[in-house]
Amino acid sequence: MSSKLLGIADDFDVIIIGGGPAGATTAGLLAQRGRRVLVLDRERFPRYHIGESLIPGFMLPMEELGLTERMEAKGFERKYGGTLVWGNNEVPWNFSFSTGGKIPYSYHTRRADLDTMILDRARELGATVVEEATVKDTIEEDGRVVGVKYAVRGLPAVQETRASLVIDASGQARVIGRKYSELNWHDQLQNVAVWTYFDGCHRLPGDEWTNILIEGIKDGWFWGIPIDKGVFSVGYVTRSATASAADVSLEDLFHSEMAQTTKLKALLKDAHQTTGFRSARDWSYTNQRFHGDGWVLVGDAAAFVDPLFSTGVALATMAGSALSRVVDQVIEHPEIEEKALDRYASAYQDFFNDIRTFVEAFYDRSKTKGFYFNMAQEITDPDKKNEPKVDFVKLVSGLTGDHALFSLTFDDLVADVTSPAGADS
Ligand SMILES: Cc1cc2nc3c(=O)[nH]c(=O)nc-3n(C[C@H](O)[C@H](O)[C@H](O)COP(=O)(O)OP(=O)(O)OC[C@H]3O[C@@H](n4cnc5c(N)ncnc54)[C@H](O)[C@@H]3O)c2cc1C
Repeated sequence: MSSKLLGIADDFDVIIIGGGPAGATTAGLLAQRGRRVLVLDRERFPRYHIGESLIPGFMLPMEELGLTERMEAKGFERKYGGTLVWGNNEVPWNFSFSTGGKIPYSYHTRRADLDTMILDRARELGATVVEEATVKDTIEEDGRVVGVKYAVRGLPAVQETRASLVIDASGQARVIGRKYSELNWHDQLQNVAVWTYFDGCHRLPGDEWTNILIEGIKDGWFWGIPIDKGVFSVGYVTRSATASAADVSLEDLFHSEMAQTTKLKALLKDAHQTTGFRSARDWSYTNQRFHGDGWVLVGDAAAFVDPLFSTGVALATMAGSALSRVVDQVIEHPEIEEKALDRYASAYQDFFNDIRTFVEAFYDRSKTKGFYFNMAQEITDPDKKNEPKVDFVKLVSGLTGDHALFSLTFDDLVADVTSPAGADS
């Protein structure tokens, strides 16, 4: 059955699977450029999602979408930095995003609110969004993906729709990646997370009032995120193998490990738990291929890195912004598709790998903060242009210099293309 029967057009430039931060950002920015975009998401928004603490890099695509004032008006809690009980230092230490340069804050937010805001904005900018629409499969012709088959809740027949390009932004569901690409698992980051919410929490003192708290203990670490008013999101992350060996439920493990914290325990001493527990297998991975004939991946659908530095949503939306520029050119000049998507993929992987390499090194808690700062410099600033601490903050802000991913120009995309018709346009 064709989408026309749903009352929506059937001639899209781009179909996007998933309306989370990656899909909605890509959709909004493509629609803003006049492209005809269809977003299909299996959920009805607002829907719950984990990933509530954001870093400054996230603010750049939100500025492009024209959303920063709305976030402020909605009252999202501003986040100015982080406080860590981590490594070989005797006392907790903290960092402020302002050390890293131009964007001194980001937000903590309930993802149901944030994701709805971005998806609504994509709609406002002209994207067609169908919720409760689950993509079941791709449509292929001569080896090229030319569309998708999807089921809409309440409708008996499977729908079909076609476009020049299909973008997979389906998060860890990896609707297209699952079919066309193998995964590389990152062996050092095979973790599990269990989390819940507490009301009536104390806050960190002074300038640290809205910092995320990251507290390492012997076998794992906790996050404490002040989402709003007195409510904290509190999660525990440990290696999957450690959790299995403990032979108790994840909930019991959460409580017994919490007893080992110092700073977090103090913030929660008068608080009460307000919801049940949620958990997720939290294994980091990269798809071996980020694109193929007629398809391309973005966000968690492309690669996922452990949440230690809260980088997921920033990566998803920054990559979505870059992809919207690349895809806009690919639609105009189809002959550059393979090269242009190659460039997007390698720039994205470079950016992702810097974060992943750093997170893996940071998990070694036998070091001091000076070591971690130097490590950030080695990875992102080998010419030592900045102080190591500045490089550290830039890295954990998602703002490591003028990364290639965010400055792909039309000339970069068409360079080496055999027949760059229209390259002068
Ligand atoms: C324990 C944990 C803690 C985290 N903490 C943080 C944090 O503090 N900060 C941070 O930035 N990130 C965090 N993350 C990472 C963050 O959750 C993700 O990186 C982010 O949500 C990625 O956005 P996305 O748009 O790629 O995917 P998603 O947000 O997962 O969106 C994918 C969308 O695709 C839809 N979909 C799936 N399958 C289909 C289908 N077949 N058809 C149609 N639609 C489909 C889903 O309904 C969903 O809406 C955390 C992750 C974990 C596991």
